[in-house]
Amino acid sequence: MCRQQFTAIADHLDLPEDERDRLLYPKRAITVSCPIHRDDGSVAVFQGYRVQHHLSLGPTKGGTRFSTSVDIGEVAALAVWMSWKCALAGLPYGGAKGGVTVDPSSLSRRELEALSRRYMQEMIPFVGSHTDVMAPDMGTNEQVMAWFMDTYSMHQGRTVTEIVTGKPVATGGTEGRREATGLGVVHLVGSAMERLGIRAARATAIVQGFGNVGGVAAEELHARGVRVLGVSDHTAAYFDPKGLDVPDLLRHVAAHGMLAGYSNELRIDREELLLQPCDVLVPAAMERVITERNAARLRCRILAEGANGPTTPEADRILAERGDDLFVIPDILCNSGGVIVSYFEWVQDLQQFFWGRDEVIGRLYGHLDRVFHQVTNRAARERVSTRVAAMAIGVSKVRDAKKTRGLFP
Ligand code: GLU
Repeated sequence: MCRQQFTAIADHLDLPEDERDRLLYPKRAITVSCPIHRDDGSVAVFQGYRVQHHLSLGPTKGGTRFSTSVDIGEVAALAVWMSWKCALAGLPYGGAKGGVTVDPSSLSRRELEALSRRYMQEMIPFVGSHTDVMAPDMGTNEQVMAWFMDTYSMHQGRTVTEIVTGKPVATGGTEGRREATGLGVVHLVGSAMERLGIRAARATAIVQGFGNVGGVAAEELHARGVRVLGVSDHTAAYFDPKGLDVPDLLRHVAAHGMLAGYSNELRIDREELLLQPCDVLVPAAMERVITERNAARLRCRILAEGANGPTTPEADRILAERGDDLFVIPDILCNSGGVIVSYFEWVQDLQQFFWGRDEVIGRLYGHLDRVFHQVTNRAARERVSTRVAAMAIGVSKVRDAKKTRGLFP
């Protein structure tokens, strides 16, 4: 998917062949094995990865994923997408991504800590505050980032908060980072609704994924008066044409760790949920959920891609044919609130000068507004989809940096 998307953009930008490999291929791809003691005394070995896509604009930046789907290919694609995302947002970073092939829910808290610390330990030769800065992604959270930061700091013999972002506020994290991705998604949905003349009080939404992105997005949509008709996670999907009680769902998830068990009457098939009529559909779970099988049958007006890579290139072609009928907020724009506030956290850590929540969120919204206008202006000017416009801006910025810096030696 990542290669296909890049080729389409390279064709659109008319990039010469010899520049394409230089732009696409990751600079470094690291594979490590991470042995830990299980609680029963046995030793288990987990595979870990980190891909650093390019170093042309500054350190690399990106999350760490703990999931059974993680392999070097997935991590590489996610690292490349981080590059276009950071460049589009104007951040001084290349993209990176890391991960461990593991189901984190199968580990005890002690085992999860051991694996997190061992993974960071194995990465110490390859990361640094000005080399590669990690953050959370699927299956990791603030606590895992605190363990990463502590492990790196113990090795250095001093506290190095700026080595990871997405940390708890008590350990050098920033106010607003945990909610930043979800709030950013909803802010951009607001901008899209304004363009289409949709009023929040009359709007409806469906959210796939109820974690750090989907859960916060559903909560914020609800808070802004949008009726949330449907939600799902990997355990269950619920739909109510009258609107769901989002605070109640959040309380259920806080108590049980998953959506399953919330209600028997409101259950719906997870695939079917995506096809229900609504104004805003937010896929905020994983890759490849909008495919050639369901793209023509989506009944939303705004597709807000909270996840990375939720739409396949085949589906994208089908969506593009629908023209103005469907407004797509592409992933590298839609979920960029996370890495934008990660950048704010890194800056605050480097300066040891901390901002309040209002300042963080205010700056985030201003930043997203500027990028949203760049993308929609370019899409209108060049008569291309918002995805092509967003990717073209990101790829061009990396290309310009590489060109002006030249090739060493
Ligand atoms: N994992 C998030 C993403 O995919 C955040 C990365 C970061 O904050 O560095 O954008």
